[in-house]
Amino acid sequence: MDCVIDNCVKESEVEDLTGYCKKHEIASINLKNEFENWLIAYGSDYTMKNYLERIVNDDDINKGMFVIEVAKYRIEQQDWN
Ligand SMILES: [Zn+2]
Repeated sequence: MDCVIDNCVKESEVEDLTGYCKKHEIASINLKNEFENWLIAYGSDYTMKNYLERIVNDDDINKGMFVIEVAKYRIEQQDWN
């Protein structure tokens, strides 16, 4: 099975239920870890939805292409966990 991210032709990890390939899986983990830092910095009422939208839209935030792709995918899926 291909990675769930649009235009990504890498194979997803078979034993991994997220459907991401290795690079997007790592980006997804980094994204989650960074959210924990944001909760500490901005307060625990900061939501995953706000966070993902800022990752996608705010050019001042330093982030990789894989991270942006995962954030976009999660917004499409309305995955706020
Ligand atoms: Zn991928």
